[in-house]
Amino acid sequence: SDHALEYPASPKAIDWSTHYPVLASSGKVPEFADVGCGFGGLLIFLAPVFPDTLMLGLEIRVQVSQYVQDRIAALRATSAAGQYQNVSIVRANAMKFLPNYFAKQSLSALFFLFPDPHFKSRKHKARIISPTLLAEYAYVLRPGGIVYTITDVRDLHDWMRSHLEAFPLFEHVDEATLRAEGKGPILDAVYTSTEEGKKVERNKGEKWLACFRRIEVSRD
Ligand code: SAM
Repeated sequence: SDHALEYPASPKAIDWSTHYPVLASSGKVPEFADVGCGFGGLLIFLAPVFPDTLMLGLEIRVQVSQYVQDRIAALRATSAAGQYQNVSIVRANAMKFLPNYFAKQSLSALFFLFPDPHFKSRKHKARIISPTLLAEYAYVLRPGGIVYTITDVRDLHDWMRSHLEAFPLFEHVDEATLRAEGKGPILDAVYTSTEEGKKVERNKGEKWLACFRRIEVSRD
């Protein structure tokens, strides 16, 4: 349950300098969001690759989000090159409060990596990709921004893909196209950098990737 969580009233109410103290004067806001980031493997891998991009993980479990916060603090403290200043985490229910954290069209990448499958149909409404939530994801992503999804559960892959494809503000974009656009390092990280992704590899499971572009519409 998330009843004890406190949320910012709006993105403007967030003091990002507490998350990114060294970069506070840049006036930047997060551009990459990892929803259900777990132990933080993706953003911790990407942070030194895109040092000028602010990144935020969202994780609902208290101990896990605390672990990631400690992990980032330790990395900052030991990095001689001043790395990891651009990555942070909040404990949050991303299914309820994403627009409280991210302003309209502020994100260039939104990650859903190995989300909880919620197999039973009566639990499908608990899935992180659902028709209602897609409107919020489209709202926080800028036109041209990318939604990355990956899972080892074929049924969940089909579900995410069919819902995202049916939503008018998203279009499917294949892996080769994204690699040609220079997003190879991001895709490699999506496949291999997270704790869940590594577990799937150890178990020799299959991974299903599906990516979508937030389309440009002239009226917005
Ligand atoms: N993305 C990570 C990875 O690939 O290693 C973690 C995958 S794990 C299977 C799913 C994570 O999503 C869990 O850590 C869970 O606590 C988190 N989660 C589930 N629902 C969430 C929500 N509504 N908001 C934020 N995090 C959530």
